[in-house]
Amino acid sequence: MTTDQYTFDDPTTRYPSISPSSGEDQPEPGLDAALETKADLGELTYRGTGRLEGRKAIVTGGDSGIGAATAIAFAREGADVLLSYLPEEEEDAQRIVGLIEEAGRKAVAFPGDLKDPEYCEAMVTRAVEEFGGLDILVNNAGKQIEQESLEDIDDIQLEDTYETNILAMFRVTRAALKHLPAGSTIINTTSIQAYNPSPTLVDYASTKAAINNFTKGLGQQLAPKGIRVNAVAPGPIWTPLQVSDGQPKEDLPDFGKSVPLGRAGQPAELAPAFVFLASPESSYVVGETLNVNGGSPTP
Ligand code: NAD
Ligand code: MG
Repeated sequence: MTTDQYTFDDPTTRYPSISPSSGEDQPEPGLDAALETKADLGELTYRGTGRLEGRKAIVTGGDSGIGAATAIAFAREGADVLLSYLPEEEEDAQRIVGLIEEAGRKAVAFPGDLKDPEYCEAMVTRAVEEFGGLDILVNNAGKQIEQESLEDIDDIQLEDTYETNILAMFRVTRAALKHLPAGSTIINTTSIQAYNPSPTLVDYASTKAAINNFTKGLGQQLAPKGIRVNAVAPGPIWTPLQVSDGQPKEDLPDFGKSVPLGRAGQPAELAPAFVFLASPESSYVVGETLNVNGGSPTP
């Protein structure tokens, strides 16, 4: 039984190999609260050791899944956190607000739609007002809807996916720049889909390839200012995105089983990667994509 993220055990059995029912189905955006097969966000296991003491963070998609696990970890490491999420996700967001406050840090719940350019700006303004500055930006929100054929991807899905995954990342980051002092860090959530696209995710996967490229270009642009930009590329992680049309339903029972470790990852296993890239431990790491994917080879 894992007691915290530093416990030595066998990674193949650290978490059980899950077999979600093909009947798990939620409207988009899904909720952690409504997952039948529960995800581990590190609520009971993440142990902070002061690695982000006094930092001021925004985490988009911080209500659930990978973003929520990251928000919990950041707070336990000593950071204040603004959570961005859609209004329909209030239940999940409030639970994470409670966990951030239990860690003794300030939490700001800031719901809105990242497809709205004004919201992207307002989020940054609000964080700066509430925290007296900003020095960590995690661009983690994402939209993923599987479709068998390119012809099934209508303009609404295409535009929403690019607006959410790419345009919002540009807009939020652009709004943040004037506030970020040297020593700040930007972390973008990309995906193994950036290199190994599934045939059913061509719109989503192509946004993730763009995120890798954006990370490497912006990393060079901002490095002379002392701002580091990096990315985390998850493999198959059990989150609400997967049950809200992120995967073909028939694939859910085998979700994550084909990676070398033989099981899906849990959001709690991603949080330490974000903490590392946010902290000065990674001071010489710039434009890097840290793959956290259970062992699938990447270029
Ligand atoms: P998740 O559903 O828990 O998180 C995605 C979040 O994106 C939602 O909680 C929602 O708040 C936010 N979001 C989506 N559209 C939005 C909009 N229009 N406005 C504001 N917020 C919006 O799922 P997750 O799997 O934790 O996803 C987090 C990130 O991880 C995403 O970028 C996803 O692409 C990436 N990712 C996930 C996996 C995986 O297997 N779960 C694998 C690779 C990459
Ligand atoms: Mg959510």
